[in-house]
Amino acid sequence: MEKTMEKIVALAKARGFVYPGSEIYGGLANTWDYGNLGVELKNNVKRAWWQKFIMENQYNVGVDCAILMNPQTWVASGHLGGFSDPLMDCKECHERFRADKIIEDYAAEYNATLDGSVDGWSQEKMKQFIEDNNVPCPTCGKHNFTDIRQFNLMFKTFQGVTEDAKNTVYLRPETAQGIFVNFKNVQRTSRKKIPFGIGQVGKSFRNEITPGNFTFRTREFEQMELEFFCEPDTDLEWFAYWKQFCIDWLKTLGMKDEEMRVRDHDKEELSFYSKATTDIEFLFPFGWGELWGIADRTDYDLTQHQNISGQDLTYFDDQKNIRYVPYVIEPSLGADRVVLAFLCAAYDEEEIGEGDVRTVLHFHPALAPVKIGVLPLSKKLNEGAEKIFMELSRKYNCEFDDRGNIGKRYRRQDEIGTPFCITYDFESETDNCVTVRFRDSMDQERVAISDLDAYFADKFTF
Ligand code: ATP
Repeated sequence: MEKTMEKIVALAKARGFVYPGSEIYGGLANTWDYGNLGVELKNNVKRAWWQKFIMENQYNVGVDCAILMNPQTWVASGHLGGFSDPLMDCKECHERFRADKIIEDYAAEYNATLDGSVDGWSQEKMKQFIEDNNVPCPTCGKHNFTDIRQFNLMFKTFQGVTEDAKNTVYLRPETAQGIFVNFKNVQRTSRKKIPFGIGQVGKSFRNEITPGNFTFRTREFEQMELEFFCEPDTDLEWFAYWKQFCIDWLKTLGMKDEEMRVRDHDKEELSFYSKATTDIEFLFPFGWGELWGIADRTDYDLTQHQNISGQDLTYFDDQKNIRYVPYVIEPSLGADRVVLAFLCAAYDEEEIGEGDVRTVLHFHPALAPVKIGVLPLSKKLNEGAEKIFMELSRKYNCEFDDRGNIGKRYRRQDEIGTPFCITYDFESETDNCVTVRFRDSMDQERVAISDLDAYFADKFTF
């Protein structure tokens, strides 16, 4: 079975996971809308993150901050000055590229070794590499590029009725800054002592030069970020702790070792303020891609905000009688990216008889968009089946399907990743039992209707 993006994108559209954005107007490049199943899947992923990182975690609390922030925020964070990608055009076909990506792709194709990560290279060094290696344009194959220039990735807009510089605001390019500017507020109202963390889930916007690979890289996306504040000198321990925590989260939700790799940044690749950074990558059908960036950001962010805002952002440890600017460990995960990873990981085509292939999504039950399919064997049995549906729907997202033969209905539920189907048949009317069928093994089991509540109680936990 070959797992391709074409198959996954087609299934996503056909079954209601993800549609192309604004489709009736011919679309808008690289925008996507989550459909009836996609919204459930994405909500389940976000809920699973919130559950483990915020609800069950003794150290952390959550916030939900505004997308529009005082522009001074972006001066302090460095986004206004330095959040840009190296842009280059092909003079022949006028296609536009990121210079660093062309170099990386060229090196991968021709097995060329690079001097550290291209992320850390200067513009001159990139240009030199492209000239020395005679790197061709990926679109037309010619060798005639413009100079490299920096392109700021922030989306700009105006607040209020006049469109002038003093009304310029930016759509946030990450959720983290809402957390930093509220550090004191949250510390006071939650009465947390260091070490503690603040998490947030929400939209971010980046005017990416080369979006693509379905929902992997888009200009509007959602992030799940934690900023964990700790005492200086304890940062590397906490860095290791959160790195393992993130790996464990992915694994408990069914991600396999061979689909994941952990890539530590070497010295040249590290941002100037970072002591350690790791990417957790996933093997997508198009290759390895970053899912999660985990960084030791030292005291950079709070110090910057303290300097620019003039507000005191230090923390006083009344046990040790010391005052300091906390260090920060930041695990930052893209919600859309990890949803795509779970979708790719779940996708399977299984041969279950001669020439008989079923498409199935092996989602972890906690992530499955539909938890239980309720299927009356015949429409004559709808009344009894509907009662079960109504009862279970109070707790789980269920689907009621009375159309077509039962085999086809099972296959449809397999294809959307429903872990359990309940079949209500003629015997159910007298023995008060139903058949529960499992998606992965296709085994079946008879269960009393009165036991269903207890039966499912531990089936969707993780
Ligand atoms: P990349 O190198 O892929 O552009 P990055 O290193 O700039 O990513 P971060 O700024 O560390 O990414 O953002 C944290 C996480 O947010 C990423 O690991 C990714 O999961 C997600 N993310 C970042 N940019 C996008 C995007 N354009 N579309 C979807 N998700 C994104």
